[in-house]
Amino acid sequence: ELTRLNVSESVFAHFSAADLELINLISGLARRVGVRTYLVGGVVRDIILGVPNHDLDLVVEGDAIEFSQNLNRLLNGKVVSYPPFGTSVIFMKEKKRIDFASARKEFYAFPGAAPDVEYSDLKKDLFRRDFTLNAMAISIYPDNWGELYDFFGGYRDLRNKILRILHPLSFVDDPARSIRAVRFEKKYDFHIEPFTMSLLKQTIRKNLLDSIKPDRLKEEIQLILELPNYYRYLERLYQLEMIPSILPGCIWKREYSDRFIGVERRLPEVKTIIGIDKFLYQLTPLFDDFDVKQISLLQKRLALSRHFSHKVVSYHSYKSEFMSAVEEKDIRPSEIYLRCRLMPLEFLYFLLSFYPEKSLANQRINRYLKEWRTIKTILKGSDLQEMGIKAGPHYATMLDELKLAKIDGYAKNRFEEEQLIKQSWERVNKRGEQR
Ligand code: ATP
Repeated sequence: ELTRLNVSESVFAHFSAADLELINLISGLARRVGVRTYLVGGVVRDIILGVPNHDLDLVVEGDAIEFSQNLNRLLNGKVVSYPPFGTSVIFMKEKKRIDFASARKEFYAFPGAAPDVEYSDLKKDLFRRDFTLNAMAISIYPDNWGELYDFFGGYRDLRNKILRILHPLSFVDDPARSIRAVRFEKKYDFHIEPFTMSLLKQTIRKNLLDSIKPDRLKEEIQLILELPNYYRYLERLYQLEMIPSILPGCIWKREYSDRFIGVERRLPEVKTIIGIDKFLYQLTPLFDDFDVKQISLLQKRLALSRHFSHKVVSYHSYKSEFMSAVEEKDIRPSEIYLRCRLMPLEFLYFLLSFYPEKSLANQRINRYLKEWRTIKTILKGSDLQEMGIKAGPHYATMLDELKLAKIDGYAKNRFEEEQLIKQSWERVNKRGEQR
């Protein structure tokens, strides 16, 4: 059943010269210590598909930790090992890393396998993986360098663009694979094979997705958010009725697509802004019709920070006031400023995508983001003190009022700022006397 195919040409074509040199080094060590070593998983899939992927994921038929330590004597990176799993990583400069796993019996306890069948260690390792397309290996051991190990028909499935699980209990063993299925289906434009699809639907129907741990779930969603046009994956998750258990409270509407496209277009800029929660920003269009009563459910489901839910709740509470302000014809800039200030940054950037580029609202939000948000008064607390104003909490109010005045076009220089401060100090005093 094992295809004896040599794909060394594809391996050569896939990797950079530097990576090939690294692979040769590994293969030399493998020969010296007599340990069979393979490239495995996603990178094998992408080598065959001809898709860029610079991961170096290796399985060694021996002790991966010892192997990585030996290799690192030649590389001078940093080794981080996880003895309970028999895995190890070498971190090198420029974010390059090599991942090692041990294909050895002591690391396995897999429920889906028939106990009376003799499996090789490599085959066992591959059998624990998610889909046939991810369950292949390529030998980098010198005597059969480039030989493809495909026990489960992954090569044929790749050719036919089919996504298939390895055994019927796959989704039960790990329901997170159902989200991965959607990711691979859309990313490669594959077809989920009918039996796999029926098991996927059963998994969803039986609410097995609820048992995915928050951190795992968030990781899988994040992998989707890394991809171009990630909204198409969310849409598919919605179609398959997976959203209620992974993003409770969220729904999908057709008009979201355009908003997601706008949000994604601004992502490179938004990512550079301090204080932005990228995860929240990427999902903002979903919160437009979000059932905000469910916020604690969502927070719990994804182990989100309280900050996250505060922001969503703020958006919901201030949205309508905000919108009437930015759309209003006759309104002072400072009024708009105050509305924008209440709105979490993630949602401000979202609303920018919500309004057409040339609209008044869009221009105003832009002005807030580019100009008003960071506007500074010339005068500081120390200047007020020098002006003979008694220090106290009113300093903050006075300086804030001054800022609003500047936004409205007053107080253009230090002198004018001082004038305004004097006036507002008089007002503060008067208020004090009245009391
Ligand atoms: P990508 O290129 O999108 O990162 P990948 O296949 O490399 O895809 P990873 O999440 O990095 O994705 O996983 C690496 C490999 O580990 C997969 O190819 C698969 O063989 C295996 N794997 C990952 N997650 C699971 C899982 N939940 N169940 C079984 N095998 C998994």
